[in-house]
Amino acid sequence: MNSNITAGVSWFFENISRKEAEKLLLAEENARGTFLVRPSEHNPNGYSLSVKDWEEYRGYHVKHYKIKPLDNGGFYISTNKTFDSLAELVNAYTKNAYGLCHVLSKPCKKPQPTMWDLAPTYRDKWEIPRDELHLIKRLGRGNFGEVYYGKWKNNIEVAVKTLREGTMSTSAFLQEAAIMKKFRHKRLVALYGVCSEQEPIYIVQEYMTKGSLLDFLRQDEGQGLEFEELVYIAFQVASGMEYLESKQLIHRDLAARNVLIGENNIAKICDFGLARVIEDNEYCPKQGSRFPVKWTAPEAIVYGRFSIKSDVWSYGILLMELFTYGQVPYPGMHGREVIEMVEKGYRMPKPTSHYLPDEIYQIMINCWDANPEKRPTFEFLTHYFEGFNVTSEVPYREVPD
Ligand code: AMP
Repeated sequence: MNSNITAGVSWFFENISRKEAEKLLLAEENARGTFLVRPSEHNPNGYSLSVKDWEEYRGYHVKHYKIKPLDNGGFYISTNKTFDSLAELVNAYTKNAYGLCHVLSKPCKKPQPTMWDLAPTYRDKWEIPRDELHLIKRLGRGNFGEVYYGKWKNNIEVAVKTLREGTMSTSAFLQEAAIMKKFRHKRLVALYGVCSEQEPIYIVQEYMTKGSLLDFLRQDEGQGLEFEELVYIAFQVASGMEYLESKQLIHRDLAARNVLIGENNIAKICDFGLARVIEDNEYCPKQGSRFPVKWTAPEAIVYGRFSIKSDVWSYGILLMELFTYGQVPYPGMHGREVIEMVEKGYRMPKPTSHYLPDEIYQIMINCWDANPEKRPTFEFLTHYFEGFNVTSEVPYREVPD
Protein backbone atom coordinates (compact mmCIF):
# COMPACT_ATOMS: atom_id res chain seq x y z
CA MET A 1 0.00 0.00 0.00
CA ASN A 2 1.12 3.54 -0.69
CA SER A 3 2.66 4.55 2.62
CA ASN A 4 1.48 8.15 2.07
CA ILE A 5 -2.07 7.00 2.53
CA THR A 6 -1.47 5.55 5.95
CA ALA A 7 1.35 7.83 7.15
CA GLY A 8 0.28 9.44 10.38
CA VAL A 9 -3.08 7.65 10.41
CA SER A 10 -3.88 6.91 14.02
CA TRP A 11 -5.50 3.51 13.48
CA PHE A 12 -2.84 2.09 11.16
CA PHE A 13 -0.13 0.01 12.86
CA GLU A 14 2.65 -0.72 10.42
CA ASN A 15 4.84 -3.26 12.18
CA ILE A 16 2.83 -5.39 14.52
CA SER A 17 1.84 -9.01 14.61
CA ARG A 18 -1.54 -10.46 15.53
CA LYS A 19 -0.35 -11.26 19.03
CA GLU A 20 1.04 -7.79 19.62
CA ALA A 21 -2.22 -6.29 18.34
CA GLU A 22 -4.14 -8.33 20.93
CA LYS A 23 -1.79 -7.21 23.65
CA LEU A 24 -2.21 -3.53 22.84
CA LEU A 25 -5.98 -3.69 22.43
CA LEU A 26 -6.50 -5.59 25.68
CA ALA A 27 -4.95 -2.73 27.71
CA GLU A 28 -7.47 -1.79 30.37
CA GLU A 29 -7.94 1.78 29.14
CA ASN A 30 -9.41 0.53 25.82
CA ALA A 31 -13.18 0.20 25.61
CA ARG A 32 -15.11 -2.29 23.52
CA GLY A 33 -14.85 -1.41 19.83
CA THR A 34 -11.28 -0.04 20.10
CA PHE A 35 -9.55 -1.13 16.92
CA LEU A 36 -6.50 -1.04 14.71
CA VAL A 37 -5.61 -2.02 11.14
CA ARG A 38 -2.35 -3.83 10.39
CA PRO A 39 -0.78 -5.39 7.31
CA SER A 40 -1.84 -9.02 6.86
CA GLU A 41 0.77 -11.58 7.88
CA HIS A 42 -0.25 -13.82 4.97
CA ASN A 43 -1.49 -11.69 2.10
CA PRO A 44 1.01 -9.03 0.93
CA ASN A 45 -1.83 -6.84 -0.42
CA GLY A 46 -4.26 -7.45 2.38
CA TYR A 47 -4.81 -6.10 5.88
CA SER A 48 -6.35 -7.24 9.13
CA LEU A 49 -8.77 -5.36 11.32
CA SER A 50 -8.42 -6.20 15.02
CA VAL A 51 -11.26 -5.14 17.32
CA LYS A 52 -11.62 -5.37 21.09
CA ASP A 53 -14.86 -7.08 22.01
CA TRP A 54 -16.67 -8.22 25.15
CA GLU A 55 -18.97 -11.18 25.66
CA GLU A 56 -20.54 -12.27 28.87
CA TYR A 57 -19.15 -15.79 28.84
CA ARG A 58 -15.58 -14.88 27.95
CA GLY A 59 -15.02 -11.26 28.97
CA TYR A 60 -12.76 -8.98 26.93
CA HIS A 61 -11.00 -10.49 23.92
CA VAL A 62 -9.94 -9.48 20.42
CA LYS A 63 -11.54 -10.46 17.13
CA HIS A 64 -9.69 -10.28 13.83
CA TYR A 65 -11.20 -9.69 10.38
CA LYS A 66 -9.46 -10.01 7.03
CA ILE A 67 -9.55 -6.89 4.86
CA LYS A 68 -9.21 -8.21 1.32
CA PRO A 69 -7.96 -6.21 -1.66
CA LEU A 70 -10.04 -5.68 -4.80
CA ASP A 71 -8.49 -5.70 -8.26
CA ASN A 72 -9.30 -2.01 -8.72
CA GLY A 73 -7.35 -0.98 -5.61
CA GLY A 74 -10.31 -0.99 -3.24
CA PHE A 75 -10.98 -3.12 -0.13
CA TYR A 76 -13.69 -5.15 1.54
CA ILE A 77 -14.38 -7.26 4.60
CA SER A 78 -17.68 -8.58 3.34
CA THR A 79 -18.26 -8.81 -0.43
CA ASN A 80 -21.50 -6.81 -0.25
CA LYS A 81 -19.70 -3.72 1.10
CA THR A 82 -16.70 -2.56 -0.90
CA PHE A 83 -14.70 0.64 -0.46
CA ASP A 84 -12.23 2.64 -2.55
CA SER A 85 -9.73 2.99 0.28
CA LEU A 86 -8.89 1.68 3.74
CA ALA A 87 -9.84 5.04 5.22
CA GLU A 88 -13.34 4.86 3.71
CA LEU A 89 -13.76 1.32 4.98
CA VAL A 90 -12.73 2.28 8.50
CA ASN A 91 -14.92 5.35 8.40
CA ALA A 92 -17.98 3.32 7.37
CA TYR A 93 -17.47 0.77 10.15
CA THR A 94 -17.19 3.54 12.73
CA LYS A 95 -20.79 4.47 11.87
CA ASN A 96 -22.31 1.04 11.48
CA ALA A 97 -21.11 -2.41 12.53
CA TYR A 98 -22.46 -4.06 9.32
CA GLY A 99 -22.01 -7.49 10.90
CA LEU A 100 -18.78 -6.84 12.82
CA CYS A 101 -18.84 -7.76 16.49
CA HIS A 102 -19.12 -4.07 17.40
CA VAL A 103 -19.06 -0.72 15.68
CA LEU A 104 -15.50 0.65 15.60
CA SER A 105 -15.08 3.17 18.39
CA LYS A 106 -11.63 4.63 19.02
CA PRO A 107 -8.29 3.79 17.39
CA CYS A 108 -6.00 1.91 19.75
CA LYS A 109 -3.39 4.10 21.44
CA LYS A 110 0.04 3.67 19.85
CA PRO A 111 2.87 2.48 22.09
CA GLN A 112 5.68 4.92 22.73
CA PRO A 113 8.25 4.51 19.98
CA THR A 114 11.60 3.31 21.29
CA MET A 115 13.71 6.33 21.83
CA TRP A 116 16.84 5.05 20.20
CA ASP A 117 18.71 8.18 20.98
CA LEU A 118 18.31 10.79 23.60
CA ALA A 119 18.14 13.61 21.12
CA PRO A 120 18.91 14.06 17.43
CA THR A 121 22.22 15.76 18.18
CA TYR A 122 23.45 12.59 19.89
CA ARG A 123 22.53 10.30 17.05
CA ASP A 124 26.04 9.64 15.81
CA LYS A 125 27.82 10.96 18.78
CA TRP A 126 27.71 8.36 21.46
CA GLU A 127 29.42 10.46 24.10
CA ILE A 128 26.89 11.96 26.51
CA PRO A 129 28.02 14.93 28.64
CA ARG A 130 28.28 13.51 32.15
CA ASP A 131 26.78 16.57 33.81
CA GLU A 132 23.54 16.01 31.91
CA LEU A 133 23.02 12.73 33.75
CA HIS A 134 21.58 12.51 37.21
CA LEU A 135 21.92 9.13 38.97
CA ILE A 136 18.97 8.74 41.30
CA LYS A 137 18.73 5.21 42.69
CA ARG A 138 20.80 2.05 42.66
CA LEU A 139 18.97 -0.70 40.80
CA GLY A 140 21.34 -3.54 41.14
CA ARG A 141 24.83 -4.74 41.07
CA GLY A 142 26.30 -6.03 37.84
CA ASN A 143 29.47 -8.11 37.68
CA PHE A 144 31.70 -5.13 37.22
CA GLY A 145 29.87 -2.24 38.83
CA GLU A 146 26.56 -0.81 39.90
CA VAL A 147 23.52 -0.16 37.75
CA TYR A 148 21.54 3.02 38.49
CA TYR A 149 18.19 4.46 37.61
CA GLY A 150 18.64 8.04 36.53
CA LYS A 151 17.47 10.91 34.43
CA TRP A 152 19.01 12.65 31.50
CA LYS A 153 18.50 16.41 31.51
CA ASN A 154 16.16 15.81 34.45
CA ASN A 155 13.65 14.52 32.00
CA ILE A 156 14.28 11.19 30.33
CA GLU A 157 14.47 8.00 32.38
CA VAL A 158 17.62 5.99 31.79
CA ALA A 159 19.51 3.04 33.27
CA VAL A 160 23.21 3.68 33.78
CA LYS A 161 25.72 0.85 34.03
CA THR A 162 28.91 1.88 35.73
CA LEU A 163 32.31 0.25 35.67
CA ARG A 164 34.01 -0.13 39.03
CA GLU A 165 37.63 0.86 38.64
CA GLY A 166 40.08 -1.98 38.49
CA THR A 167 37.53 -4.72 37.79
CA MET A 168 37.81 -4.89 34.04
CA SER A 169 39.47 -3.05 31.17
CA THR A 170 37.62 -0.06 29.76
CA SER A 171 37.64 -1.51 26.27
CA ALA A 172 36.21 -4.84 27.43
CA PHE A 173 33.44 -2.97 29.29
CA LEU A 174 32.69 -0.83 26.28
CA GLN A 175 32.51 -3.94 24.09
CA GLU A 176 28.91 -4.28 25.21
CA ALA A 177 28.14 -0.74 24.06
CA ALA A 178 29.99 -1.36 20.80
CA ILE A 179 27.76 -4.35 20.03
CA MET A 180 24.62 -2.44 20.99
CA LYS A 181 25.55 0.47 18.74
CA LYS A 182 25.45 -1.82 15.74
CA PHE A 183 22.38 -3.85 16.54
CA ARG A 184 19.00 -2.36 17.16
CA HIS A 185 15.72 -4.16 17.50
CA LYS A 186 12.61 -3.60 19.57
CA ARG A 187 13.32 -6.77 21.56
CA LEU A 188 16.83 -5.68 22.54
CA VAL A 189 17.41 -3.04 25.20
CA ALA A 190 18.40 0.17 23.44
CA LEU A 191 21.71 1.87 24.03
CA TYR A 192 21.50 5.64 24.34
CA GLY A 193 25.15 6.48 24.72
CA VAL A 194 28.28 6.30 26.85
CA CYS A 195 30.35 8.49 29.14
CA SER A 196 33.77 7.12 28.36
CA GLU A 197 36.11 10.08 28.61
CA GLN A 198 36.60 9.90 32.38
CA GLU A 199 36.28 7.32 35.11
CA PRO A 200 33.93 5.90 36.18
CA ILE A 201 32.76 4.90 32.75
CA TYR A 202 29.02 4.77 32.09
CA ILE A 203 26.89 2.90 29.60
CA VAL A 204 23.52 4.63 29.29
CA GLN A 205 20.57 2.46 28.29
CA GLU A 206 16.84 2.47 27.97
CA TYR A 207 15.23 2.08 31.41
CA MET A 208 13.01 -0.97 31.86
CA THR A 209 10.61 -0.31 34.71
CA LYS A 210 10.18 -3.86 36.05
CA GLY A 211 13.83 -4.93 36.12
CA SER A 212 15.17 -8.36 35.27
CA LEU A 213 12.81 -11.15 34.24
CA LEU A 214 14.24 -13.41 36.92
CA ASP A 215 13.53 -10.97 39.77
CA PHE A 216 10.16 -10.12 38.24
CA LEU A 217 9.07 -13.78 38.10
CA ARG A 218 9.99 -14.30 41.72
CA GLN A 219 8.08 -11.27 42.97
CA ASP A 220 4.34 -10.83 43.49
CA GLU A 221 3.59 -9.27 40.13
CA GLY A 222 5.45 -11.99 38.23
CA GLN A 223 3.98 -14.77 40.37
CA GLY A 224 0.55 -13.54 39.31
CA LEU A 225 1.30 -13.83 35.58
CA GLU A 226 -1.12 -15.99 33.64
CA PHE A 227 0.24 -18.82 31.49
CA GLU A 228 -0.66 -16.78 28.39
CA GLU A 229 1.61 -13.94 29.55
CA LEU A 230 4.49 -16.37 29.96
CA VAL A 231 3.95 -17.51 26.36
CA TYR A 232 4.02 -13.86 25.29
CA ILE A 233 7.38 -13.35 27.05
CA ALA A 234 8.74 -16.56 25.45
CA PHE A 235 7.67 -15.19 22.07
CA GLN A 236 9.35 -11.82 22.60
CA VAL A 237 12.67 -13.31 23.70
CA ALA A 238 12.65 -15.71 20.71
CA SER A 239 11.91 -12.78 18.42
CA GLY A 240 14.90 -10.78 19.75
CA MET A 241 17.08 -13.85 19.34
CA GLU A 242 15.75 -14.37 15.82
CA TYR A 243 17.14 -10.94 15.03
CA LEU A 244 20.56 -11.88 16.47
CA GLU A 245 20.42 -15.13 14.50
CA SER A 246 19.84 -13.16 11.29
CA LYS A 247 22.82 -10.93 12.08
CA GLN A 248 25.24 -13.76 12.94
CA LEU A 249 25.51 -12.46 16.46
CA ILE A 250 25.69 -14.85 19.39
CA HIS A 251 24.73 -13.73 22.87
CA ARG A 252 26.44 -16.41 24.99
CA ASP A 253 24.71 -15.45 28.23
CA LEU A 254 21.02 -15.82 27.52
CA ALA A 255 19.15 -16.38 30.78
CA ALA A 256 16.16 -14.92 32.63
CA ARG A 257 18.54 -12.62 34.56
CA ASN A 258 19.51 -11.04 31.21
CA VAL A 259 16.03 -10.24 30.00
CA LEU A 260 14.44 -7.02 31.23
CA ILE A 261 10.74 -6.35 31.68
CA GLY A 262 8.90 -3.09 31.06
CA GLU A 263 5.26 -1.95 31.17
CA ASN A 264 2.65 -4.37 29.79
CA ASN A 265 5.05 -7.29 30.10
CA ILE A 266 7.28 -6.04 27.31
CA ALA A 267 10.48 -8.11 27.35
CA LYS A 268 13.87 -7.12 25.94
CA ILE A 269 17.18 -8.91 25.87
CA CYS A 270 20.07 -7.17 27.57
CA ASP A 271 23.63 -7.75 28.71
CA PHE A 272 25.62 -8.04 25.54
CA GLY A 273 28.86 -8.14 27.52
CA LEU A 274 29.69 -11.60 26.20
CA ALA A 275 28.06 -11.23 22.80
CA ARG A 276 30.22 -11.74 19.71
CA VAL A 277 29.74 -11.38 15.99
CA ILE A 278 30.86 -14.59 14.39
CA GLU A 279 32.23 -15.17 10.91
CA ASP A 280 32.11 -18.93 10.81
CA ASN A 281 29.35 -20.78 12.51
CA GLU A 282 30.96 -20.83 15.89
CA TYR A 283 33.12 -18.86 18.23
CA CYS A 284 35.84 -20.35 20.44
CA PRO A 285 36.83 -18.09 23.31
CA LYS A 286 40.23 -18.16 24.95
CA GLN A 287 40.90 -20.97 27.40
CA GLY A 288 40.03 -20.36 30.99
CA SER A 289 36.81 -18.36 30.42
CA ARG A 290 34.07 -18.92 32.95
CA PHE A 291 30.53 -19.85 31.95
CA PRO A 292 27.15 -19.95 33.63
CA VAL A 293 27.28 -23.75 33.51
CA LYS A 294 23.58 -24.49 33.96
CA TRP A 295 22.68 -22.33 30.94
CA THR A 296 25.54 -23.32 28.64
CA ALA A 297 25.34 -26.04 25.96
CA PRO A 298 27.63 -29.05 26.51
CA GLU A 299 29.67 -28.47 23.32
CA ALA A 300 30.35 -24.90 24.49
CA ILE A 301 31.43 -26.04 27.97
CA VAL A 302 33.55 -28.96 26.82
CA TYR A 303 35.02 -27.68 23.55
CA GLY A 304 34.35 -23.94 23.82
CA ARG A 305 32.14 -24.12 20.70
CA PHE A 306 29.68 -21.25 20.93
CA SER A 307 27.16 -20.79 18.16
CA ILE A 308 23.62 -19.57 17.73
CA LYS A 309 22.71 -23.19 18.52
CA SER A 310 24.34 -22.93 21.94
CA ASP A 311 22.13 -19.85 22.44
CA VAL A 312 19.14 -22.06 21.53
CA TRP A 313 20.18 -24.43 24.34
CA SER A 314 20.26 -21.49 26.77
CA TYR A 315 16.86 -20.38 25.50
CA GLY A 316 15.51 -23.82 26.46
CA ILE A 317 16.83 -23.30 30.00
CA LEU A 318 15.31 -19.81 30.04
CA LEU A 319 11.95 -21.35 29.06
CA MET A 320 12.18 -23.63 32.08
CA GLU A 321 12.98 -20.63 34.32
CA LEU A 322 10.01 -18.80 32.82
CA PHE A 323 7.42 -21.56 33.17
CA THR A 324 8.53 -22.37 36.72
CA TYR A 325 8.33 -18.67 37.73
CA GLY A 326 12.04 -18.26 38.30
CA GLN A 327 13.14 -21.59 39.73
CA VAL A 328 16.87 -22.26 39.63
CA PRO A 329 17.53 -24.76 36.81
CA TYR A 330 18.51 -28.31 37.87
CA PRO A 331 17.39 -27.62 41.45
CA GLY A 332 19.68 -29.09 44.07
CA MET A 333 22.45 -29.94 41.60
CA HIS A 334 25.92 -28.40 41.45
CA GLY A 335 27.47 -27.18 38.21
CA ARG A 336 29.93 -30.06 37.95
CA GLU A 337 27.22 -32.64 38.49
CA VAL A 338 25.08 -30.95 35.83
CA ILE A 339 27.92 -31.12 33.27
CA GLU A 340 28.47 -34.83 33.95
CA MET A 341 24.81 -35.78 33.94
CA VAL A 342 23.93 -33.75 30.84
CA GLU A 343 26.84 -35.32 28.96
CA LYS A 344 25.33 -38.71 29.81
CA GLY A 345 21.98 -37.63 28.38
CA TYR A 346 20.18 -36.37 31.49
CA ARG A 347 17.73 -33.50 30.90
CA MET A 348 15.64 -31.46 33.33
CA PRO A 349 12.33 -33.30 33.85
CA LYS A 350 8.95 -31.76 33.19
CA PRO A 351 8.02 -29.74 36.29
CA THR A 352 5.29 -31.17 38.44
CA SER A 353 4.77 -28.04 40.51
CA HIS A 354 3.79 -25.79 37.58
CA TYR A 355 1.54 -26.03 34.56
CA LEU A 356 3.46 -26.85 31.40
CA PRO A 357 1.85 -28.43 28.32
CA ASP A 358 3.71 -31.47 26.95
CA GLU A 359 4.09 -29.65 23.65
CA ILE A 360 6.15 -26.85 25.22
CA TYR A 361 8.21 -29.29 27.28
CA GLN A 362 9.00 -31.10 24.01
CA ILE A 363 10.24 -27.78 22.56
CA MET A 364 12.64 -27.48 25.54
CA ILE A 365 13.86 -31.03 24.94
CA ASN A 366 14.45 -30.13 21.28
CA CYS A 367 16.47 -27.07 22.36
CA TRP A 368 18.61 -29.46 24.43
CA ASP A 369 19.36 -31.89 21.62
CA ALA A 370 22.91 -33.19 22.03
CA ASN A 371 23.42 -32.46 18.33
CA PRO A 372 23.40 -28.65 17.93
CA GLU A 373 22.26 -28.92 14.31
CA LYS A 374 19.06 -30.64 15.39
CA ARG A 375 18.02 -27.83 17.71
CA PRO A 376 15.31 -25.52 16.33
CA THR A 377 16.08 -22.10 14.88
CA PHE A 378 14.96 -18.93 16.66
CA GLU A 379 12.88 -18.19 13.60
CA PHE A 380 10.94 -21.38 14.25
CA LEU A 381 10.68 -20.66 17.99
CA THR A 382 9.32 -17.16 17.34
CA HIS A 383 6.59 -18.50 15.07
CA TYR A 384 5.88 -21.31 17.46
CA PHE A 385 5.25 -19.06 20.45
CA GLU A 386 3.55 -16.40 18.42
CA GLY A 387 1.06 -18.93 17.14
CA PHE A 388 0.67 -20.85 20.39
CA ASN A 389 -3.03 -20.84 20.97
CA VAL A 390 -4.01 -21.02 24.57
CA THR A 391 -7.66 -21.24 23.71
CA SER A 392 -9.13 -22.70 20.59
CA GLU A 393 -9.68 -19.17 19.27
CA VAL A 394 -11.00 -18.83 15.69
CA PRO A 395 -8.15 -17.22 13.69
CA TYR A 396 -10.32 -14.84 11.63
CA ARG A 397 -13.99 -13.92 11.79
CA GLU A 398 -16.25 -13.87 8.79
CA VAL A 399 -18.88 -11.20 8.37
CA PRO A 400 -22.10 -12.59 6.90
CA ASP A 401 -22.77 -11.31 3.36
P1 AMP B 1 23.42 -6.32 34.80
O1 AMP B 1 24.77 -5.82 35.17
O2 AMP B 1 23.09 -6.02 33.35
O3 AMP B 1 23.23 -7.77 35.12
O4 AMP B 1 22.34 -5.50 35.68
C1 AMP B 1 22.16 -5.70 37.07
C2 AMP B 1 20.71 -5.38 37.46
O5 AMP B 1 20.39 -4.02 37.18
C3 AMP B 1 19.69 -6.17 36.63
O6 AMP B 1 19.43 -7.41 37.21
C4 AMP B 1 18.47 -5.28 36.66
O7 AMP B 1 17.76 -5.45 37.84
C5 AMP B 1 19.08 -3.90 36.67
N1 AMP B 1 19.14 -3.34 35.30
C6 AMP B 1 20.13 -3.47 34.39
N2 AMP B 1 19.87 -2.82 33.25
C7 AMP B 1 18.65 -2.24 33.42
C8 AMP B 1 17.78 -1.43 32.59
N3 AMP B 1 18.15 -1.10 31.33
N4 AMP B 1 16.60 -1.04 33.09
C9 AMP B 1 16.24 -1.40 34.35
N5 AMP B 1 17.00 -2.16 35.19
C10 AMP B 1 18.19 -2.58 34.73
